[in-house]
Amino acid sequence: MSKTRKRILVTGGAGFLGSHLCDRLLREGQEVLCVDNYFTGRKENIQHLLGHPNFEVLRHDITFPLYVEVDEIYNLACPASPVHYQYDPVQTTKVSVLGAINMLGLAKRVGARILQASTSEIYGEPTVHPQTEDYCGNVNPLGPRACYDEGKRCAETLFFDYSRRHRVKIRVIRIFNTYGPRLHDNDGRVVSNFIVQALRGEDITLYGDGQQTRAFCYVDDLITGMVSMMAVDDDVTGPINIGNPHEISMRTLADHIIALTGSKSRIVGRPLPQNDPTQRCPDITRARRLLNWEPRVPLEEGLRRTIAYFADRLVQSSSLPGAVNQGS
Ligand code: NAD
Ligand code: UDP
Ligand code: UDP
Repeated sequence: MSKTRKRILVTGGAGFLGSHLCDRLLREGQEVLCVDNYFTGRKENIQHLLGHPNFEVLRHDITFPLYVEVDEIYNLACPASPVHYQYDPVQTTKVSVLGAINMLGLAKRVGARILQASTSEIYGEPTVHPQTEDYCGNVNPLGPRACYDEGKRCAETLFFDYSRRHRVKIRVIRIFNTYGPRLHDNDGRVVSNFIVQALRGEDITLYGDGQQTRAFCYVDDLITGMVSMMAVDDDVTGPINIGNPHEISMRTLADHIIALTGSKSRIVGRPLPQNDPTQRCPDITRARRLLNWEPRVPLEEGLRRTIAYFADRLVQSSSLPGAVNQGS
């Protein structure tokens, strides 16, 4: 093994973000150990990496201890879509809390740097807008989203306690809504839902009045931010927001996707899920200053690439009758 090559553990490596991270790390010449229990991840996300000399996969649930020797850990294992993380809420809390304890225990034993994929959800229904990292959030601890939000909040607490108490080299990023190829086609997240519905000519399901906002980051930008965070000096622990500050309403997103796909789909109203945040947008001043990072892919470009991915998948699975008009 070369002196500079690192052995890097990616938990949740078969998921949407994790598989893109594995791609990036392998391209940079690192050795990657992907750990996943395939709850929401898919083998096909990492199929192209099987056989790569620097890539290894282990089926494992991180709520159980893991003994391996690594230099860095990216802790991404956790379902991210509201539909998936509410499917078994107790397991969701366990993944965040027990998973963090095990991965921090591992990092402590081997002296590895460890990055936590935290989330904008820790801000809950924010009363500060855009959200800065020193805002402590407004989470309903009893609601249906709490298993995810509170689990991730507790994981952050554990990271900072292991840093203070055991001098583990931690990095915490708070990821805002991210989209791109390899999103699941049926996990309920808005970008994949709208694109798949538009491509199939089905009704586009807009929850509530569609005035709620999100800010969407293209996956390549997100991975660049994540890798930059791991590489930064040890005194930069975070938390640091990583997201795209271009904020739009869900109605506008639906209109964009209809235009880009050339779809004939209608927008239809559906009830707003409980505790669905009204607005969300990152303040990325810290990421700009400390990581020299900011997103580069504009929404329209990222949507085009994501639409192309789903169009291919739908054609391959023959669930799409005829050709798809992807717009100009
Ligand atoms: P995803 O559901 O595609 O990936 C999560 C991966 O973790 C899956 O491969 C799943 O099988 C695996 N996993 C779940 N439980 C596990 C367990 N107990 N042991 C081992 N593996 C397990 O989601 P994603 O969008 O790729 O999200 C990755 C991480 O980033 C998550 O921690 C999520 O909270 C965080 N995040 C994502 C977003 C986003 O917009 N995508 C936003 C904020 C935070
Ligand atoms: N752990 C692990 N891999 C390791 C070291 C620890 O999975 O290489 C787990 C172990 O199960 C332990 C947890 O991490 O319960 C926390 O470890 P720590 O050393 O902080 O505390 P312990 O519980 O061992 O006192
Ligand atoms: N949403 C929607 N239609 C859908 C799926 C989601 O209008 O088919 C809305 C949802 O109510 C929320 C926003 O889109 O306001 C983002 O939802 P997503 O589940 O992608 O992420 P999160 O709520 O975790 O930000």
